[in-house]
Amino acid sequence: MTSTIRSVPTGATRVAAVIGSPVRHSLSPALHNAAFAATGLDWVYLAFEVAPGRAGDALQAMRVLGIEGLSVTMPHKAQVADTVDVCTPAAAALGAVNCVQSVDGRLVGHNTDGDGFVDSLREEAAFDPTGKQAVVLGAGGAARAVVVALAAAGAAEVVVVNRTVDRAVEAARLAGSVGRAGGLDAVPGADLVVNATSIGMSGTGGPTLPCPVEALRPGQVVADLVYQPLDTPLLQAARSQGAVAVNGVGMLLHQAARAFTIWTGVPAPIDAMRAAVADRFR
Ligand code: NAP
Repeated sequence: MTSTIRSVPTGATRVAAVIGSPVRHSLSPALHNAAFAATGLDWVYLAFEVAPGRAGDALQAMRVLGIEGLSVTMPHKAQVADTVDVCTPAAAALGAVNCVQSVDGRLVGHNTDGDGFVDSLREEAAFDPTGKQAVVLGAGGAARAVVVALAAAGAAEVVVVNRTVDRAVEAARLAGSVGRAGGLDAVPGADLVVNATSIGMSGTGGPTLPCPVEALRPGQVVADLVYQPLDTPLLQAARSQGAVAVNGVGMLLHQAARAFTIWTGVPAPIDAMRAAVADRFR
């Protein structure tokens, strides 16, 4: 593991952190401290357990203590979006912030999940969404971030398929004119199929595949946001059908990489970040 802090923090060390509840399992400290070490930056990254409903207090602490970067995880993303001074367009559309940047004491809320996902497609499958047909399975927080990012990246169509149809309609609206709610019959025609449901996640029970195996075909990119297990039943099915399979670790890495660059202005050392969490995915 390369996630050691380069030197002992001093009075000049700059601070970033994650807030969440629960937060002790978070991979973010390992990812970001590895990135600070690899780039030689005198920063340290901590994890703070913040009780539900207390995100506003955490932002106030950020201001008072001079914490320069904050990652935000469950259950605080919506409250932080309501509390920061300004949101980026994607974070405002989603009503969810996963990254806060302090700019001269002003707190800027970003959402790097969707763009991180698109980065992972580009890096791992050389897939550019521009002009492509995408199907997103699911309409929760992760799905919505992916829908916004695919539309922003120039997808020709983003079809949202969800068990609860009203939520699919609402999520598809986030893609503007290229979004629509649809059914599983859209899957065979898609260039990109994204599982953003929790189907396939360890310990969830119920169905293990979010769409029929036969709906997948060669030439498609099939991405699963679920990363526990790393090799999900959907990814196995995708490979068996000749599709390209992309696991959920890339999104996790690249959303953190984007946050790192927002805070520090320095390109993220992706390989060092990947190595820092590799043993968690064996
Ligand atoms: P969420 O807001 O709770 O949404 C869950 C989605 O899954 C909803 O669309 C829900 O449909 C659907 N679903 C759950 N069980 C289902 C079932 N048995 N049959 C059909 N649909 C079902 O969760 P989320 O935060 O979006 O996360 C979704 C998944 O993405 C999780 O596995 C999470 O671990 C993963 N994720 C990965 C990353 C990453 O970095 N790779 C980031 C975020 C999330 P209804 O609307 O009908 O309930």
